[in-house]
Amino acid sequence: MNKENTCNFSENKFDLWSDDTIWTCNKCGGDWSFIDGSTPQENGMNYCPSCGRKIVEYIPRKLDIEEDEE
Ligand SMILES: [Zn+2]
Repeated sequence: MNKENTCNFSENKFDLWSDDTIWTCNKCGGDWSFIDGSTPQENGMNYCPSCGRKIVEYIPRKLDIEEDEE
């Protein structure tokens, strides 16, 4: 497959104070969030809705250290 037509989605924290996450396309920078915390895969999202590239990799958010309280 032509790499030009593919992209990766990486999960990021929406902001420091929230548990929400967003998924960002590494090619067009489009952000997508899912209210129930599910992943693009679970939503059948195989293509970036913004640039139309096929998503070939989903990169989960790295847990940061301060998050374990609660
Ligand atoms: Zn995109």
